[in-house]
Amino acid sequence: MGYIEPAPIKDEKNPFEAMMSRFHIASQILGLDDEVYNVLKSPAKQVIVSLPITMDDGSIRVFEGFRVIHSNILGPSKGGIRFDPGVNIDEVKALAAWMTWKCAVVDIPYGGAKGGVKCNPREMSSGEIERLMRAYTLSMTEIFGPDRDIPAPDMGTGPREMAWLMDEYSRTQGMTVNSVVTGKPLVLGGSLGRTEATGRGVMVSALAAMEKLKINPYKATCAVQGFGNVGSHAALLLEERGVKVVAISDLSGAYYNGNGINIKEAIDYRNDNRGSLEGYLGAEKIDGDEILGLEVDVLVPAATEDVITSQNVESIKAKLIVEGANGPTSAKADTVINDKGIMVAPDILANAGGVTVSYFEWVQNRLGYKWTGERVNRRSDRIMKDAFDNVYKTAKEHNVSMRIAAYVVAIDKVAKTYKYRGGY
Ligand code: NAD
Repeated sequence: MGYIEPAPIKDEKNPFEAMMSRFHIASQILGLDDEVYNVLKSPAKQVIVSLPITMDDGSIRVFEGFRVIHSNILGPSKGGIRFDPGVNIDEVKALAAWMTWKCAVVDIPYGGAKGGVKCNPREMSSGEIERLMRAYTLSMTEIFGPDRDIPAPDMGTGPREMAWLMDEYSRTQGMTVNSVVTGKPLVLGGSLGRTEATGRGVMVSALAAMEKLKINPYKATCAVQGFGNVGSHAALLLEERGVKVVAISDLSGAYYNGNGINIKEAIDYRNDNRGSLEGYLGAEKIDGDEILGLEVDVLVPAATEDVITSQNVESIKAKLIVEGANGPTSAKADTVINDKGIMVAPDILANAGGVTVSYFEWVQNRLGYKWTGERVNRRSDRIMKDAFDNVYKTAKEHNVSMRIAAYVVAIDKVAKTYKYRGGY
């Protein structure tokens, strides 16, 4: 199972609107003409399917499945598949658009997409999930393809589901097509470095931002909200680079140690404790929400959406926020953060290490060749650092926040490409 990402929407009633509010500001800065604005704000394709699945007890249940291709202007569209009871078309539309901007920010030749099935995988057997994944794949045969639309895991899905998708799609083509999906198990053509790629990109963004803010990593403190794939790898890699990680948290609560938490030890504890930090004794347990207001230099929200809101933003004391999660900060909280002079390495920049290494997986599959982990890391670090520098330069040029600058970089690239390609 991949990452389980509950999505409580507190400030934002509709995630598509949250995305649009930033899109709108960036479009105004760019002076985007109305025609291009309308093209970029509208998803290119939205597909809704009904998937009748035989359950283990013999009954048939019908699940609703979605795939939204927001844009294929820069190339084939790319985006994960979410299995979650809360999946709906607005959420999928917003996540698809975020993928467009994310790929554009890190300058990889993909458009953006997202998919999902409204289901609760935690209450389904492995066989039921497999049948659902295969049925979903079959219903998307005309949509998916290595040169058309390339899915990946998202909340509630992982390498196992991607293996079923790859197999089902390959059956329809009469040959093995491993480049149709990324996030596969290593033996099926997955890439070395993919598991830690997002956390690694968070670390690269954090160090790049600290350099700009003249924060010495060896003297810096950090708090990381969320101790799953992204949070734990980001914490470990930051610790390796000298940053003192004084607090970590997960759904069980937050854990504080002013002398620095031993991250490797905390990861081992979590792995031996069914994925939870509950009962971790290497730090003092504090209230989960307190982690956001701690006196630290760097705050890494790496749990879920909409955690920094108009209700708690005033309590934030960090000088730098590096967004490992997608959409952790509401648009309303953005204004206060900017007024407080806090730098934000925004999600579409800071967590793009994952899609970057997914792109490398696709490249390796198409080459029929496997890169070493060292090559994957070196190349993704360079992409993340270049993207950070470009967004920083754009922020200075337009005198805007890093978040708006990231949107400016992304929208400018997609709009220019659209102008060259042309419409009808
Ligand atoms: P995960 O399921 O591995 O970990 C999530 C962690 O957050 C868990 O420790 C969970 O207990 C914790 N958590 C959830 N809600 C919380 C809350 N309200 N307060 C404190 N902790 C909470 O997920 P992940 O893969 O690490 O993804 C985390 C975020 O990063 C998500 O927003 C996801 O969309 C984003 N993201 C992930 C990737 C990736 O490659 N995995 C890539 C880009 C973005």
